[in-house]
Amino acid sequence: MIDINKVRADFPILKQTINGKPLVYLDNAATGQKPQVVIDSIVNYYSTLNANIHRGVHTLSQKATDAYELARFKIQKHFNAKQNYEIILTAGTTHSINIVATGFTTLLQKGDEIIVSAMEHHSNIVPWQMLCERTGAILKVIPMNLDGELIMTAYDNLLSNKTKLVFVNHVSNALGTINPIKEIIDKAHKIGAAVLIDGAQACPHIKPDVQALDVDFYVASAHKLCGPTGVGILYGKEEWLNKLPPYQGGGEMIKQVTFEKTTYADLPHKFEAGTPNIAGVIAFGTALDYLNNLGFNNIAAYEAELLDYATKKLLQIEGLKIYGTSKSKTAVISFNIGNIHPYDIGSIIDKLGIAVRTGHHCAQPIMDFYKIPGTVRASFSFYNTFEEVDLLYNALVKAKTMLS
Ligand code: PMP
Repeated sequence: MIDINKVRADFPILKQTINGKPLVYLDNAATGQKPQVVIDSIVNYYSTLNANIHRGVHTLSQKATDAYELARFKIQKHFNAKQNYEIILTAGTTHSINIVATGFTTLLQKGDEIIVSAMEHHSNIVPWQMLCERTGAILKVIPMNLDGELIMTAYDNLLSNKTKLVFVNHVSNALGTINPIKEIIDKAHKIGAAVLIDGAQACPHIKPDVQALDVDFYVASAHKLCGPTGVGILYGKEEWLNKLPPYQGGGEMIKQVTFEKTTYADLPHKFEAGTPNIAGVIAFGTALDYLNNLGFNNIAAYEAELLDYATKKLLQIEGLKIYGTSKSKTAVISFNIGNIHPYDIGSIIDKLGIAVRTGHHCAQPIMDFYKIPGTVRASFSFYNTFEEVDLLYNALVKAKTMLS
């Protein structure tokens, strides 16, 4: 069970007022807020532990290295990776995807096919398009239906012996749909293709088990999981990470450097050139502890109730249309009211202290599919309340009256 008063007390930012009103933060799909323990972890690192890792013989450097590697271990346990070196620490989902997309340049040939879905974030479209430009591979797209669900029979028809890679998000950031990733992975594996799952939106709500999924690559960002910005993970199966070349050259990722030849370090360091976000990674470990203490089953149950309540409440507003009506979705409501521009709604309710996202949410193809310029997106977290849903409703009624 989520003890909502206790949970909210953990998040100092939620005590703020915005434009003279209590902050109602409903932009969690863009980034999540941070509990005090995570903020303390960053302060503590710079106050007591700051040193560069993996290189110093001195005690402080070793302590910092231990704290950093402990965080990798926590991440490994959270995602249930077989080996700790299958967890590559990156700057975020976008960085992780680019490591894989760039690495595949040497593994693809002209005419090979790669499959993405119609509901991807731009960061899971553009790197693959760039890969296609470099290699002559062809990008195919799994279409979706009006409920915002992937059409799986169309996926079956796209798969062939030319398919080398499949990239799908676990949860759509614009619609909230939870995609059937196990089925997608199993079908791709039957024809020998590798699969990357973009877990950026799933991880705040669902605890993925990469071994049970048998996924080849799984990527996520710490900042959506109560952690800091500038930190992410790339999980890759050992055999795949060994096949990919390094993404960046520099310090830390080498075994030996001479001007004639450089040899690369073993996993995970091969992909971790340069000084990383040490404080951020350690704080991400703390964030995972915090979330696991709350329990993902409790988080999912609470958010499901909140979604149900909010959906019913918002649908009472005449002319409000929700995009993304799958039964399998996380607590995201993407909507428009009549022909009112989403930006106008977002601006008015901001004056009332309510933070939502408006626009195409970095998923322009979805907006093109629905033939709309964008949506208003209210995305909920376990620290949001039913009273905040009521405040959103009241604010939307006011905005609608003003703008109609
Ligand atoms: N994929 C999805 C589904 C996302 O929602 C996001 C963040 N909005 C990203 C990728 C990119 O994540 P980041 O900006 O943290 O790299």
